[in-house]
This record gives sequence, C-alpha cells and structure tokens, in this order.
Amino acid sequence: MDNHSPPKLYLCQVNETVSCGACCGLYNVADPSRSALLERLARRTARFAKTPRTEDGIEAFRQAIEGWTPEDRPFPQFHHCPFLGLIGSGHTRVGCLLHPDAPGNGGHDLRYLSYYGAQACRSYFCPSTGALPVRFGQILQTILEDWYFYGLIITEHQLVRAIFEVLEEKVGRMIGPEDFRPDREASACLLELLDVKRSWPYRRANASGLCHFPFENGLYSRPPVSWPGAYRPRQSYQIIFRELESGFRSEEELHRAEKLLDDHVDRIADHLASFRRSTA
Ligand code: SF4
Ligand code: SF4
Repeated sequence: MDNHSPPKLYLCQVNETVSCGACCGLYNVADPSRSALLERLARRTARFAKTPRTEDGIEAFRQAIEGWTPEDRPFPQFHHCPFLGLIGSGHTRVGCLLHPDAPGNGGHDLRYLSYYGAQACRSYFCPSTGALPVRFGQILQTILEDWYFYGLIITEHQLVRAIFEVLEEKVGRMIGPEDFRPDREASACLLELLDVKRSWPYRRANASGLCHFPFENGLYSRPPVSWPGAYRPRQSYQIIFRELESGFRSEEELHRAEKLLDDHVDRIADHLASFRRSTA
C-alpha cells in the first residue's frame, strides 16, 4: 500500500449503504458472493462487539477470525483483513472495525494493530482515486445503492473508464451524474452494462474471477487477451475485454462479445437521447 495522494473524489465511504473495502481484501476469499460475504462480515461484527478493546483482546479476535476462515484465496499474497466488518447505524455497509468512529472504540484509532498499520490504513488511496475521472466516479456513486457491487467495480478504473468512453463516443458528448440522477431507465441500463463485471460470458476458464487486485505493483497484472485471429476490436473494447479476463475461441465469438457491448451502449444512448428530448 503506497499511494497517499489526496483524492479528487472520495471513493471509500459514500453513504449509509455504499462503501468499499476492496483494498482491505474484501473480495479476496474463496466465495466472494454477496450472501457469503454478508454472512462473514455480520458474524465478525457481532463477535467484535463483544471483544475487549485491548491489544490482547483484539489479537485474540484476529486469531479467531483467521482460524474461522482458512481458505485458498484468489490472490494468495493479497491480505484479507479480519477487521473488515459492517458499520453504520444499521450495519448497512462495509467498513473498518478498528476505525476510531466504529462502535465501541471510543474514538480510539486501533488500526495500528492491523497488518498494514495505522498510517497506511489511514491514508492509502487506491489507483482509481487518481485515475478515474471524477465525473465517472460520480456516476457510479449516483446509480449504485449497495456496497457489494460498488466495491467490486470502483477499483476497476480501466474497465469503467473504457466503458464510459465508449458511451461518450456514442452520445457525442461528455456525460455526468446529471444524466443519470433523474433518468431511472438510463441508470438501469447502465447498471446492466456494468454488471458484465459479474456476468461476462466470455471470461476465460483460468481467470481469477470477481476479485480485482487493486494495487498496480505488477504482482497480479491482468495478461493481454490472446486473440483468436488477425482481427482486433477497437482500442476501448480491447481494454474492456482484457479487464474482463476474456478468452475467445473464435473470431465469431469475439464479434458476439462486441455486439453484446454495442447493444448495451445503444440502449443507454437511446434512453439518454429520449430523456433529453422529453425535458428540452
Ligand atoms: S479500494 Fe479504493 S475506494 Fe475502495 S476502500 Fe480502498 S482506497 Fe477506498
Ligand atoms: S485495519 Fe486497515 S486493512 Fe483492516 S479493515 Fe481497517 S482499514 Fe482495512
């Protein structure tokens, strides 16, 4: 963890139900489904509520949690922090149980007891913080209402940027949160497009899966796509296909993948255009 540049848009905690724990290794578990993560976070949060806020108590908690969850991780050298839990008055989003504002900590910052240490936990910002254009981050914060998918997609700045650039090219202008805030249909269509992160039918068999390694230190870089022939898609699609860990068995399959994306983009562009006409 080595990026401490101040954020142009704060991405980590957004509202009562939207937040991120991706750099704390949230998704780096054998089963990163929402239900499995929610069960794990809820169980840990309940146990931490009964944990004495002493160094021995917190260390015993860490050992117990890591003992509960021995497993093969998608990225073995990426730490999954046992202090990730559920925060907020209704435990409605993911967050750090050692944070000074977390219940029971009495304003004390206990993150010095974590694997990364207090300084890194306090001041780290992932590459999306600097690389994702602010308007694209704002769009995500406008249309997403749940921590689970927000955290999955917010670190994917190359994927998200390429998708939004294709959309901007299609509509012939820059887009921003104002395009989606009042337009529920365009928002729903955009959510369907972004959901290729989870549902991509062309993900190759040996792909690492849903978890994204957010640190750009070369440890787990995504390899380039191995193209099935001489044909190459447009540059934005090459990025999208790489970030979705695609594998194509034929050029026909590659063209089907392009059409899948084209159809999503066309639907969103149509909704944006008709909404603009209706409010003109
Ligand atoms: S991965 Fe990025 S957005 Fe998510 S908590 Fe870490 S720094 Fe914040
Ligand atoms: S202690 Fe650090 S790594 Fe663990 S959840 Fe808190 S902020 Fe994330």
